[in-house]
Amino acid sequence: MKYIGAHVSASGGVENAPENAFKIGATAFALFTKNQRQWKSSPLSRESIDLFHERCEKYNYTAAQILPHDSYLINLGHPTNEGIEKSREAFLDEMQRCEQLGLRLLNFHPGSHLKEISLETCLDRIADSINMTLDATHDVTAVIENTAGQGSNVGYAFEHLAYIIDKVEDKSRVGVCIDTCHTIAGGYDLTTEESYEATFRKFDEIIGFKYLRGMHLNDSKKGLGSHVDRHDSLGKGILGKELFRRIMQDPRMDNIPLILETPDESIWAEEIQWLKEQI
Ligand SMILES: [Zn+2]
Ligand SMILES: [Zn+2]
Repeated sequence: MKYIGAHVSASGGVENAPENAFKIGATAFALFTKNQRQWKSSPLSRESIDLFHERCEKYNYTAAQILPHDSYLINLGHPTNEGIEKSREAFLDEMQRCEQLGLRLLNFHPGSHLKEISLETCLDRIADSINMTLDATHDVTAVIENTAGQGSNVGYAFEHLAYIIDKVEDKSRVGVCIDTCHTIAGGYDLTTEESYEATFRKFDEIIGFKYLRGMHLNDSKKGLGSHVDRHDSLGKGILGKELFRRIMQDPRMDNIPLILETPDESIWAEEIQWLKEQI
């Protein structure tokens, strides 16, 4: 099965996300379980949790089709103790919210060294952060997203993700989310059949498809190795529609949430329909 959706709004409460996804014909969705621009949000209410469950059931979304995303403020590789403690506390809260909602995945950007510590130290700190959070929770898998490598963000090279995974103690609860825009911006071509095969062969050798737990389907405004994170609508950027057709026909991307984070929400329904037609 291909699970296809978008990062939908949860404004007014997480319980609104399933309906927002259903309205655009999605068979998967992503959401923020709290305000992504604030450190603290009030806890999820019992009513909100119950309605979320009820509506997921009503619209046929199981935990395997839902890929929550954490707050953009969190930096699990932060160079300072104060910064990393704040991030770890917030990340644990995110994971506990997922547990309350019966979700099994939590997608996050690995972190940034802020030019204050080495790449390796930053990756070590991220792995420690993941280990601490997994120790304190039970059901949720930490899903590390590859990045464009903008600024001092780590995680654009497959080796960075493999390094982190290697240091995570519970391998059954760590995985990755591959964002197609970040992949090309990070230095891996995907624009031709040959480059697609070569990039995913590298992915398999360095990380392994068994860790692939989700994907973000975004075209890119910026080119190969630009390290600039600018999403575009499918077919409007430099990746082109052919890439997304290949993904729809590739069984290695079956049974994981495939999520649009493309900039024009008004055409998400069309983009989802088009993707479904390519399967
Ligand atoms: Zn993404
Ligand atoms: Zn991005």
